[in-house]
Amino acid sequence: MKTRRVTVPAMEAVMGRTMPVLDHGFVRVVDYMGDDGAVAQAARVSYGRGTKTVSDDRGLIRYLMRHAHTTPFEMCELKLHVKLPIFVARQWIRHRTASVNEISGRYSILDREFYLPQHDVIGTQDEKNRQGRGAALSASKASKYLGILSRDALKAYDHYERFLGIKGDKTTEKAVARELARIVLPLNYYTQWYWKTDLHNLLHFLALRLDSRAQFEIREYAKVIAGAVKRWVPLCWEAFVDYRLQALKLSRAEAAVVKSVLEGRDPRKAALGLSNRERAELKESMGIDVPSDG
Ligand SMILES: Cc1cc2nc3c(=O)[nH]c(=O)nc-3n(C[C@H](O)[C@H](O)[C@H](O)COP(=O)(O)OP(=O)(O)OC[C@H]3O[C@@H](n4cnc5c(N)ncnc54)[C@H](O)[C@@H]3O)c2cc1C
Repeated sequence: MKTRRVTVPAMEAVMGRTMPVLDHGFVRVVDYMGDDGAVAQAARVSYGRGTKTVSDDRGLIRYLMRHAHTTPFEMCELKLHVKLPIFVARQWIRHRTASVNEISGRYSILDREFYLPQHDVIGTQDEKNRQGRGAALSASKASKYLGILSRDALKAYDHYERFLGIKGDKTTEKAVARELARIVLPLNYYTQWYWKTDLHNLLHFLALRLDSRAQFEIREYAKVIAGAVKRWVPLCWEAFVDYRLQALKLSRAEAAVVKSVLEGRDPRKAALGLSNRERAELKESMGIDVPSDG
């Protein structure tokens, strides 16, 4: 049947296709609603006639993004099927503005599939960022880590099967309930869910999870989703990159420091209220080095 709904050829091309992430995970676009035009169309309802200056879709979308006029972006929806390690799911689920339906370990028997990081992303504890990963571990230490991780995951799955009473292809009647058996599985086991959200909240998710401070593993998922969003709503994506993802937000004091530098004044006075961490961040983002007086 021919549809009267909006379709985006670039998105149709990836619909239903499994896009691999990490060692066993994936993202699959199940469905989408709307396109760039739907965002502009919704915005025009609120602006009404006579606003010719914002009549072009690109200009209008950029205006909306720049001024955080967010509701038109909520007119577009994306539904994904995602397979992801449980520890990634725990971070992801914190994004409350989405609808989620997860595989149930109470009904189903979970697969023997667990995440093992690649050698090159196995790092030491970062010394500055308490949440982050530092330099790569030596090859021999990384191998030892992977060996233990893998043995523990397999052993846990053996116990899981034992609790379930699975012997070969058979399940004994005296099995422990699936909901109790599954609790032996570690965080690197894979789970799956359907995840649906609107474009506004999706971009918020991407802004947080594409950031270098987000954990590598969830960033890998965010990158794949970002690729799909770029295909789906290229004008919204462009505006998002320009006004949010790669934009800089300055605090009052930071803005004062930048202004001092631009005006050729000593920025130390303006920087008085900045903590050492803020000074370091300003150096990283703007290349402005304000020495502390102390
Ligand atoms: C790098 C990084 C590190 C993190 N570290 C930690 C950590 O150590 N510990 C930890 O617990 N969490 C941590 N988080 C999770 C973080 O605190 C947020 O819970 C998560 O990023 C979801 O953000 P959100 O609430 O803006 O998103 P959503 O839940 O999708 O909400 C979107 C927006 O809706 C609004 N909203 C939603 N629900 C409410 C509500 N109940 N009340 C008011 N407004 C609401 C808010 O404006 C919110 O920004 C971390 C996140 C990141 C990106």
